[in-house]
Amino acid sequence: MPDTKEILLATFKNSRYGMILVHMDQSLKMVNSAVCALLGYEEDELLQMRFCDFTHPDDMAINEALFEDLKSGKGQTYEIVKRIKRKNGDIRYARLTATPVMDSMGAPKLGAITMEDMTRDEEAAEKLRIAAKIYENSEEGVVVTDRSGVIQFVNPAFTFITGYSPEEALGKNPNILKSGRHSKEFYELMWGSLIAEGTWQGEIWNRHKSGEAFLERLRITSILDQEGKVTHYTAVFSDLTQVHNKEEEIRFQAYHDILTGLPNRSLYLDRVRQAITRAQRGGKKLAVMFLDLDDFKKINDRLSHSAGDLLLQGVSARLISCLRETDTVARIGGDEFTILLEDVDGEKQSSVVAGKIMRSISEPYLYDSEELYISASLGISLYPADGNSVEDLMKNADTAMYHAKDQGKNNFQFFTEPMNQRVIKRLEVESNLRKALDKGEMFACYQPKIDLKTGRVVGMEALIRWRREGLELVLPNEFIPLAEETGLILGLDEWMLANACAFNQRIHEAGDEEFSVSVNVAVNVSAKAFESPDLAKNINDVVHQSGLKPHFVELEVTESSIIRNIDQAVVVLCKLREYGFNISMDDFGTGYSSLSYLSRLPINILKIDRSFIIDLPTNSKAKSIAKAIVTMSHEMDIKVVAEGVETPNQLEYLCDIGCDEVQGYLFCKPLLEKEMEELIQSRKHYFVG
Ligand code: C2E
Ligand code: MG
Ligand code: MG
Repeated sequence: MPDTKEILLATFKNSRYGMILVHMDQSLKMVNSAVCALLGYEEDELLQMRFCDFTHPDDMAINEALFEDLKSGKGQTYEIVKRIKRKNGDIRYARLTATPVMDSMGAPKLGAITMEDMTRDEEAAEKLRIAAKIYENSEEGVVVTDRSGVIQFVNPAFTFITGYSPEEALGKNPNILKSGRHSKEFYELMWGSLIAEGTWQGEIWNRHKSGEAFLERLRITSILDQEGKVTHYTAVFSDLTQVHNKEEEIRFQAYHDILTGLPNRSLYLDRVRQAITRAQRGGKKLAVMFLDLDDFKKINDRLSHSAGDLLLQGVSARLISCLRETDTVARIGGDEFTILLEDVDGEKQSSVVAGKIMRSISEPYLYDSEELYISASLGISLYPADGNSVEDLMKNADTAMYHAKDQGKNNFQFFTEPMNQRVIKRLEVESNLRKALDKGEMFACYQPKIDLKTGRVVGMEALIRWRREGLELVLPNEFIPLAEETGLILGLDEWMLANACAFNQRIHEAGDEEFSVSVNVAVNVSAKAFESPDLAKNINDVVHQSGLKPHFVELEVTESSIIRNIDQAVVVLCKLREYGFNISMDDFGTGYSSLSYLSRLPINILKIDRSFIIDLPTNSKAKSIAKAIVTMSHEMDIKVVAEGVETPNQLEYLCDIGCDEVQGYLFCKPLLEKEMEELIQSRKHYFVG
C-alpha cells in the first residue's frame, strides 16, 4: 500500500489543475504536467525559473503582493486572478489559489499554488465589460428584459430618452412606455415577428415619463440559450422625434403657403373632399367660399412687394379670426383665398360669416405708419345645392366671385344657376370670337367726322362689327370687353388697322386732291395693346404696309389705358407722334379727366365723351365743362371733337364754344365701307358754318 506521501505526489502530478510548489523567493520547487501544459515549458525549464518570470509585466504588483501575503505568516489561502505569459508569448488568464506551507517552527516555507486557465471566462467577462461600456455611452437606448419581459437592465440613454431612471425601470415591464397610439394588431405583429424570426424592427410611438409621445426606431432581438430557448430580449432604440419633426416640417411646407402659413390649394382640396364625405354621411351642408382681393395689384405696384406680402398676411390673420376652429381657410394663389365652412345651415349662416369677413377685411391695415385699405369680392357655393364634387363647388364659388366683381366689387354673392348660364354663354362667345376673324365674320363700319367750320367730312372712325353666323349683328360693347380679357383684341385691332388704312389709301388714290385726300381715318387702340413696349413699331409697320401716310391716321386711345402705366405709355405715344401719327384722347371725361396730365401727353386731338354732349345745352354744368375743355385744349394746341351729337341744339352750342369737329347720329350713323366711299365721293357739305 503506498504511503500518504506517494498518494499526494501522484495526485499532485496528475491533477487537472496546474500545481506548483514555490519557495518564498519565487524559485520553483515542483511543478506538475498541467502547469507545464498551461505555460508551454518543459518541467526542467520551469524548475530553472522563478514564479515572476511567467507573470504578465502589468500584473507584477499583484504577484509581489501575493508573495508578501504568503510570507506574512497568517497562513490563510489567497485567491487571485492574474495574467500569465506562456513560453510562446501568449497571454492567458489564470485563477490562482495560494496557500503557505509552514515549517516545523510555524514559519512560511513554501507556497502551494494551484493554477487554472481562466482565459475563456475572463474573455467573456471582458467582452461584457466592453459591451457594458458601449451601452453606457451609446446614444441609443438599451433595455434588456428576461424572457417574461421584466426589465433587467437599462442604459443611461434609456433614461435620457424615456425619463425613467434605472431604479424606476428595473423590475417593470416595458409597457410603462406604451403611448396608446398603436393598435392591438400592431403589437401582435411585432410579437409574431419576434417569435418567428427572433427579431423585430420598426418605428413606434412611445410615451416619455412626462406623458409626451415620442417616435423611436426600435430593434428587438431575442437571446437564446444553447438549447434555443429564449432567455432574454434586448431592445435598442433611438429617438426619431427630431427626424420626425424635420419630416413634418417638409410635409408642412408641401401643404401650406409659406407666406401666410395657411393651407395651400392641395390641402384645401383634400379638406373639402373629406368634408363632403362627412357631410354626405351626416346629411350636413357645407359652404365653399372663393375670395379675391379687389385691385390688389395696384397696391403691390404702387407700394412694394413687401407691402403686398404684409397685406396678405394681415388678410389671412383676419380671415382666421372670422372663422371657427373647424373651418378651413387657404391661400391658393396670389390674392386668392378659399374658405370652407363645415356644418352650416345654408345661406343664412354663410352670409353672416361672409358679411363678417367683408367687414373685417375692409378695416385699415397699417404699413409704414400709412393706413392701407383693401376690399374683397367673395363668391359662395353650397353643398349639396350647388354641387356634389370639389370641382363643381370650387368652380361655382369662383363663378359667384366673378359675379361679385361684376357687381362692382367689395360684395359677396351666392352662386345661382343663371350665373352659370352666363359663364357658359361667355365661353361660347369666346370660342366663336376666336374663329370669327378666320371665318370672315368681322367687318368694319365707318362713321364720318365733320368739320364744324366747313361742314365737310374730314375724317371717319373705323368701328368693328361682328356678324355671327346665324345671329344678328353683334355690337362691340358686347364682345370687346371679352376680347380684351382674352387678349383676342390684339388680333382684332391689328386687322382693323390694316383694313381701315387700306380703305383710306384707296379713297386717297381714287379721289381728287381737294376733297378726299384730306380725309383722316381713326382707329381705336385697346388698353391691352399698351402692355407691349413694341406697340409703336407694330402700328407703324402695319400702316406702312398699306401705303397710307401716318399723318392721315388718328389713333384713339382712352385715358384708362394710358393711366395704368403712364410712363411707358408716354414713351410709346411720343414715338408714334414722331412717326407722324395723330393721337386722339377718346371718351374724354369718363375717366380721370385730369386736365393737368393732358399736358404731359403728346396728344393732338381730344374727343369729348357722349355723356357730356347729351346734357347740352340744357345742363349748365355740362355746358361749362364742355366750354372749359375746348378753351384749355386750344391753349395746348389740341383739336376738339364732340362725340354722339344727336340734336341741332347740341350742334349749335358746340359751334358757339368753338369745337372743331363733330361725330354723331345727327349727321350719320356708322356706314358700310361702300356707303362711306359714296358719301366722300358725293362731296357732301352738311352745312356751311
Ligand atoms: P367709341 O370709340 O367711343 O366709338 C363711338 C361709339 O359711339 C360707336 O359705338 C358709335 O357707333 C357710337 N355713336 C356714334 N354717334 C352716336 C350717337 O349720336 N349716339 C349714340 N348713342 N351713339 C353714337 P360702337 O361702334 O358700338 O362702338 C363702341 C365702342 O367700342 C367704341 O367706342 C370703341 O371704344 C369700341 N370699339 C369699336 N370698334 C373698335 C375696334 O375696332 N377696336 C377697339 N379696340 N375698340 C373698338
Ligand atoms: Mg373711338
Ligand atoms: Mg368714344
